[in-house]
Amino acid sequence: RAKRRGRGRAEMFDEALRLQLTAHAELEAAIAYALANDEMQLHYQPVVDVARDRLIGYEALVRWERPGHGMVRPDAFIPVAESSGLICDLDRWVLGAATRQLAEWRADTPADQPEPTVAVNISGRHLTDPRIVEDVADALEASGLPARLLTLEVTETVLVSDPAAIDNLAALRDLGVAIAIDDFGTGYTSIGQLGHMPVDTLKIDRSFIASTDPGHRELVALMIRAAHTFGLTVVAEGVEEEDQLARLKADACDQAQGYLLYRPMTAADAGALLRPVELLATD
Ligand code: C2E
Ligand code: MG
Ligand code: MG
Ligand code: MG
Repeated sequence: RAKRRGRGRAEMFDEALRLQLTAHAELEAAIAYALANDEMQLHYQPVVDVARDRLIGYEALVRWERPGHGMVRPDAFIPVAESSGLICDLDRWVLGAATRQLAEWRADTPADQPEPTVAVNISGRHLTDPRIVEDVADALEASGLPARLLTLEVTETVLVSDPAAIDNLAALRDLGVAIAIDDFGTGYTSIGQLGHMPVDTLKIDRSFIASTDPGHRELVALMIRAAHTFGLTVVAEGVEEEDQLARLKADACDQAQGYLLYRPMTAADAGALLRPVELLATD
């Protein structure tokens, strides 16, 4: 009996595993299909200059309009794309779409206005692939967007774990693009290491911005000061409350992003922010 029950359990396990693998394979196939059939789109979250209260540019955030599933957020499919090679195709698509969009907005920007910038998230897997440099160079060339208007966001984990990633980052910076460390504070990079890394911008993770712990608040002020010592620009992520923004201003944080300022929005809405208010008021 025990033996039979044991086999039954093994069969149940096999069945669960089989279903899981099937679901994974189906999602993978659906992502590949989505990339080839225009189901992906970009939303744009404005980034604001804290001291001047002015729009600087946007972070491009991928969305998947999956038939029968509605709008799928990246956290639901990026991990699957990462576990297959698809993430590089996705990153390439995002790079192409974001640079094309920004080049278009730049062309429409009045000469006396600052040119909007765009930040694109790059997966750690893609960053360790030597093709990343070519992919970024291709997107810049095809769109005509000047490299100085593009920032690549990478997470700190990949920076500490892979020397190939550091080499690629240095080559990317040689193209003239800026590099930002995303979600800073959630990994294992110490503030002291920042000075040795080929990066331009530090994005402080929203968990620190949201925290009411006095120790965390002090830490945010310290991160900003240390980053400035190394010549880095600091962006606060996930600003949701007025008092958070006020504190960031007092701490001399350069830029901020968050629901208090703007939520991620469609390209049409993001582009409208660049046009003078008088033009919008006419219809
Ligand atoms: P991230 O790069 O740290 O992007 C910020 C995330 O925080 C976005 O979620 C954004 O919608 C959300 N957010 C912004 N402001 C606030 C706020 O005030 N409060 C809260 N609670 N959330 C806020 P989203 O769009 O769901 O993206 C999640 C993550 O997926 C991103 O984190 C990024 O790591 C990844 N991702 C997004 N787009 C891409 C992409 O095109 N390529 C790659 N490789 N990864 C992407
Ligand atoms: Mg990001
Ligand atoms: Mg982030
Ligand atoms: Mg993140």
